[in-house]
Amino acid sequence: MNSSAPDRNAAAQPPAASAGPPAPVFRLSLVYYPDPVLRVICAPVETFDTALRDTIEEMFALMRAHAGIGLAGPQVAIERQLLVCGIGDQQLCLINPALQESSEPADSVEGCLSLPGVQVKVRRPERIRVSGYDPRGRKTSFAATGLWARVIQHEMDHLNGVLICDYRRPSVKECDECPLSLPAVLVEERKHRMRP
Ligand SMILES: [Zn+2]
Repeated sequence: MNSSAPDRNAAAQPPAASAGPPAPVFRLSLVYYPDPVLRVICAPVETFDTALRDTIEEMFALMRAHAGIGLAGPQVAIERQLLVCGIGDQQLCLINPALQESSEPADSVEGCLSLPGVQVKVRRPERIRVSGYDPRGRKTSFAATGLWARVIQHEMDHLNGVLICDYRRPSVKECDECPLSLPAVLVEERKHRMRP
């Protein structure tokens, strides 16, 4: 997910100076719409090893480099239930997430790193309780509110191949001609896959 006020300095990496630290070299790269991987229903993570933790660290770095506040597995072509979020100096990784509870929904505008320039008003619960695993495979459960609740739900949607553009149908005619168009009934089913 995009931050509402992108930090342009973070997006523009200065060229590496010979005396300074090297510019980050990413093995992962961002996937953009309409790459079909963005419609994949991700499998659970089963192995919590060093390779997984290296991938997570790189996802955090890539997210920050693009001034994002959230990034999900499919956005780096990893078809696993894996997401990272970062707001301010706090960051969070959640693996195999499930939504336990949610409050009444509210509207707010969202952007997405995989859909540059697209902004959609999305209706989501303002408070959630979510469970899942941390990068070491330890079970975790916590409550989230406000922007944290929103970004976690946005990234959880990605794990089921749901995108912000799905929230504006059926009012937008172009969606019918979209190469990634999903039947509305399928979108609704996917939105509820990680709910109790
Ligand atoms: Zn997104």
